[in-house]
Amino acid sequence: MDSFIKHLYIHVPFCKTICSYCDFCHVLYNEKLVDRWLKRIKKDLENKNTEYETIYIGGGTPSCLNNKQLEELLSIVKPFSNNVQEYTIEVNPETIDEEKIIILKEYGVNRISIGLQSSNDRLLKLMNRKHNFLDVKNCIELLRKHNINNISLDIIYSLPTQTMDDLKKTIDDVLSLNVPHLSLYSLTIEKGTIFDKLNYSSLDEETEADMYEYIENILIKNNYVHYEIANFAKEGYESKHNLGYWNYDDYEGVSCGAVGKYKHHRYTNPKDVLSYINEKDIVEIEELTNSEEAFENIMMSLRTIYGLDLRLFKERYKIDFLEEYKDAINKHENDLIIKDGHCICINREILNSILIDFMG
Ligand code: SF4
Repeated sequence: MDSFIKHLYIHVPFCKTICSYCDFCHVLYNEKLVDRWLKRIKKDLENKNTEYETIYIGGGTPSCLNNKQLEELLSIVKPFSNNVQEYTIEVNPETIDEEKIIILKEYGVNRISIGLQSSNDRLLKLMNRKHNFLDVKNCIELLRKHNINNISLDIIYSLPTQTMDDLKKTIDDVLSLNVPHLSLYSLTIEKGTIFDKLNYSSLDEETEADMYEYIENILIKNNYVHYEIANFAKEGYESKHNLGYWNYDDYEGVSCGAVGKYKHHRYTNPKDVLSYINEKDIVEIEELTNSEEAFENIMMSLRTIYGLDLRLFKERYKIDFLEEYKDAINKHENDLIIKDGHCICINREILNSILIDFMG
């Protein structure tokens, strides 16, 4: 048993329908296939760490499992959730109901991430999403009825044909729900997705930047903290699991398509669901050098308002950050501040160009 890994991610690869933008690891839901996958998950989780601080069940669509399967999954995970502070599951509004919420509650799930994406019916249809805004509203009401208040919504912007007014309406609708956490992603059209096959493209860079600026301003005005480039939270509702990634902690990734990092190695489980179920999956393991890890740590940590912990950085890589990167720090003296033992990026819109100067 290893006692160092604090974070567990489990990928549920099943979905009831396939969204136009999606290139995550997914297959269409099939009851028998899910039953076989559950057996493999059970085997996979044997001998894992029992002291996780955060658990995140993502997908895919974990909520598309039937009640019995959902209960089975959560009971497999139960031995690892004894000390968990944050236990998240992703749901799609059309595949969750009160019975499932009762099951989630019973097993200690205390945070729900809902795929809203947009409140605009036309754009939802374009994305091949099968819910509408009212479904999301009803879902949130049900969660609150069962005292699950730590709710996050996923939203996509820069969608093909989306106008600024469309975005503003979605943000207004989102604000009316008053959930404590929001993740907003600009659309990237990945190869092989339905959008790609239909030759759709996201909006031009200038419109996308305007949308980002609009989102940031209005959410900050409404008391959300812009704590990570794509994430906003009311105070105290930042995602502990995702903060683990940005803090560059080690984490366990279980099931097809999941990635994990452990003791200077990153492993990637192949996306093929059948190979995983049949135990024919070959996990790709990449050894990370000290300088690669140091750079990745900088890259991840500068995404947040908390920045890079300089003491931890020295402890991890035996590198004095201020000395080693003094040229880059000087060059970006207007973009980076050193405060309370942290290096914080105050100009995250240009983070990628800043990072070039930190590359070895
Ligand atoms: S976006 Fe989510 S729900 Fe849609 S196909 Fe991808 S994994 Fe499934």
